[in-house]
Amino acid sequence: MHIGINLELSLDEIAEEIRRCRLCPLHESRRKAVPGEGSDKARLMLIGEAPGSEEDEQGRPFVGRAGRMLDETLKFAKLQRRDLFITSVVKCRPPNNRPPKVEERRTCLPYLKRQIDVIKPKMICLLGIVALQTLLKEESATKARGKVIEKDGQLYFSTYHPAASLYNVGLKSVIYSDMKEIKELLENSY
Ligand code: SF4
Repeated sequence: MHIGINLELSLDEIAEEIRRCRLCPLHESRRKAVPGEGSDKARLMLIGEAPGSEEDEQGRPFVGRAGRMLDETLKFAKLQRRDLFITSVVKCRPPNNRPPKVEERRTCLPYLKRQIDVIKPKMICLLGIVALQTLLKEESATKARGKVIEKDGQLYFSTYHPAASLYNVGLKSVIYSDMKEIKELLENSY
């Protein structure tokens, strides 16, 4: 449990805490923390790994190359950013875009959990292995991908991180079809 983090605040208040946060070493090299953005009534939350360079500069999630890929995917699935909430496991950019360390993820996780508590999404889409490991303790992205997984009363759907398709174009169609399936599940089943 984190001492010094208040419970039961709005998304804006949580975002302000994140921008001031110095709980882990990632605050030392960040330009801007990236709390996430979107609707506090989102039925779908998207959770990535960590901010990259452009996100760190703008303080907004998924605005770099992977973000453009994500936007294409959302467009394909007929989902609008403004209806979702998009964030990441850690809110500050790791140096040189390395994966966030386990301790950094652990330290930052209460912010994400509180965002989830406020939004109460029907579904959480985990983008990539870091989100999958952190939220579901799953180690195999391939095994978990494309399935609805329930944990502690929350529904999750795991797919690849959009950045993965920048290096492996074969994954693009998989991510597209996963996002479309999430949209259909939300419309028809949940
Ligand atoms: S990554 Fe999270 S825990 Fe670390 S300084 Fe940023 S907001 Fe705080």
